[in-house]
Amino acid sequence: MLGDTDDDVLALSLEAMTSRLGSRTRAVAARKWLYGTRPAPERLPERIPGVTPRAWRTFIEGARLPEWRLAARQVAQDGTVKYAIALQGAVVESVLIPGHRRSTVCVSSQAGCSRRCAFCATGSLGLGRQLTTGEILIQYLVAAAEAEPRCPARNVVFMGMGEPMDNLDAVLAAVERLVENPVPGLAEAHVTVSTSGVLPGLERFLAEGRGQLALSLSATTDAQRQALMPHARQWSIAALLGALREDPRAGPERRHLIAYVLFDGVNDSDEDAERLGALLQGLPAHVNLIPHNAVAHSAFRPPAPERIERFHAVVCARGVRCIVRRPRGPDIAAACGQLALVQQEAAVAGSDD
Ligand code: SAH
Ligand code: SF4
Repeated sequence: MLGDTDDDVLALSLEAMTSRLGSRTRAVAARKWLYGTRPAPERLPERIPGVTPRAWRTFIEGARLPEWRLAARQVAQDGTVKYAIALQGAVVESVLIPGHRRSTVCVSSQAGCSRRCAFCATGSLGLGRQLTTGEILIQYLVAAAEAEPRCPARNVVFMGMGEPMDNLDAVLAAVERLVENPVPGLAEAHVTVSTSGVLPGLERFLAEGRGQLALSLSATTDAQRQALMPHARQWSIAALLGALREDPRAGPERRHLIAYVLFDGVNDSDEDAERLGALLQGLPAHVNLIPHNAVAHSAFRPPAPERIERFHAVVCARGVRCIVRRPRGPDIAAACGQLALVQQEAAVAGSDD
């Protein structure tokens, strides 16, 4: 299995870099170089600023960047950028979403996904392979290097391809690196790991993980959820929300995100909105309503705008914090659940060989 290796420079903790480079100042300088180089580096150079050539030479004898190449880059009308990044034997997609003061980078945790949710383009690919910590982080470097300086990439969401809880060791380490001070030093509240509800991983993430958790609930009854996500047969809504209620690290600062994809005529009734409000009573959670984004060969449709508005109003009336997410980059299939296009095209091209 391809896994993390000791020589992946992005996976190394600052402590490990300090010990290999012989000083923390050099380790911080190396981190600054890694995260500050524009465009993102494809290989480690002979020298970098702030590290003596000798220390650096010894360091790079046992260190490397993950192998990567930009396979495609598309810019949407709203400024969202989608990247297809070719890794060793896999292609993954990542997205840069410019905001007002901060940009967000959406990273993939796996090439493809084995969970096969009925509404998700990535699920239709099946699992290609797991990504290493470095392969997750290089996606951040590539996108962050293109963010406008007035709008730096200080948010990361694990909402690209893959189910993070199915590759949890690599994801936990990637989050740790992202929040490590002083570089890159993202705030824990600004790194969000999204799960479709893989309970053992969710529990481990709550206990051990840095960063914020998002649970993709998208249904208010188990029957409804099972029709959307095959693995919902294994883990009930009550068990998932129970785990959030028993969060071992609950505290005044801790909030969870509940993602609820809205499908026309499936989970968007007033009764659903009432049930959702009731299910979330007393939970330190806020809800993101995501109107379904079109996926090829899918019968699902987003609800009409008035229905979305009504659903939102009913949830809010139950005292639950709730917002409707506007899709970003839909014209280039960069929005949630649409990340698969390049792979499908590549598969078609491959089958002609
Ligand atoms: N596997 C994880 C993270 C990747 S999917 C998860 O499922 O949470 C990221 C988000 O995109 C999830 O909230 C998922 O429910 C949502 N999503 C998937 N397909 C979608 C689609 N076609 N339209 C809108 N959201 C979608
Ligand atoms: Fe995988 Fe998430 Fe898509 Fe489900 S919604 S198939 S878990 S990426």
